[in-house]
Amino acid sequence: MNRAYNLSAGPAILPVEVLEKAQAELLNYNNSGMSVMELSHRSGYFEEIIEAAEANLRQLLNIPDNYKVLFLQGGASMVFTTLPLNLRQKGKVAYDNGGNFGKKAMQAAVELEDAYNIEVDVVASSAEDSYTHLPELSKNLSKDYDYLHICSNNTIEGTQYKTYPQYEGVPLVADMSSDLLSKPVDVTQFGMIYAGAQKNAGIAGLTLVIIRDDLLGLNEDLPTIFNYNTFAKANSLYNTPSTYPIYIHKLITDWLIEEGGLEAVAKRNEEKAQVLYDYLDQSQLFKSPVKKEDRSVMNVPFVTGDADLDAKFIALTEENGFQNLKGHRSVGGMRASIYNAFPLEGVKRLVELMAQFEKEHQ
Ligand code: PMP
Repeated sequence: MNRAYNLSAGPAILPVEVLEKAQAELLNYNNSGMSVMELSHRSGYFEEIIEAAEANLRQLLNIPDNYKVLFLQGGASMVFTTLPLNLRQKGKVAYDNGGNFGKKAMQAAVELEDAYNIEVDVVASSAEDSYTHLPELSKNLSKDYDYLHICSNNTIEGTQYKTYPQYEGVPLVADMSSDLLSKPVDVTQFGMIYAGAQKNAGIAGLTLVIIRDDLLGLNEDLPTIFNYNTFAKANSLYNTPSTYPIYIHKLITDWLIEEGGLEAVAKRNEEKAQVLYDYLDQSQLFKSPVKKEDRSVMNVPFVTGDADLDAKFIALTEENGFQNLKGHRSVGGMRASIYNAFPLEGVKRLVELMAQFEKEHQ
């Protein structure tokens, strides 16, 4: 089988077992005579799928009963806008500007300031250091804020929270698009967690929202389709949900459970990242631009400092079965996204190529 070592930041590499299962069931799901793509979202077949997907997610993350799981569409970017609309109460919201996506979330809230009488404060930022570390949050935060928003893993810049800031009276909201399901998380530390599924949790088209009950129904004057409570009350079946991505999410979460759950998966992810960071830390050619304590286990950016050399190295990896090592257009260099489904042997092979290239370019 000629599968690439796909280092894409998302949509990203999927477990072969999941693809094979989807392939086996493609034409005839569970003796229905239909593909999952052809099933009515109101059918018993699909009900079973969505219920199993939610049960799996609850099991993996140990989600308490007072949290609702919503399967939405529109991507994490849609949540950037629906979040302030749904959670505003006093009208003041706090953002941590730790990277491209945290900034985008903040800007989406700023767009609503006048129309919805919202005041958006950036309470910490690392923009002045090109986001090479996480922002430094202060010890205290005013209880006047309706929430504090953070991005738990900055996909482009390669920084990641290892512990999460906790402020009494201010719900923490996290965009976990690029690290949800890569490790255990204490859901009770959050008012809301959300993620586009297309990294560790599935494929594009599904947006996951995990929200504490008391944060639902705060703004019932919202257009129905923007109101999280609409989906909470309808078990995500208010309208046609993204049926196939929900099915893939179910297969992925089945796979994660079979793999031993999130603790086992986190251990493997740590091991993979360590192989890469260990090499980077002794290399004379390749450098990690990210502050050590803040380094991401999921997305590992690195540079040579010379754009031509970067391009040459990327070409070498492509000749050797790798795809998508090129860094985000905003930062350049290289970025290895080593999500759950990316194998350890792929990381080791990448490091071998780095060593070979380094020798050739001393
Ligand atoms: N947040 C993070 C951390 C991301 O990595 C991404 C996508 N790469 C987004 C938000 C945007 O997600 P979407 O494309 O699903 O809107």
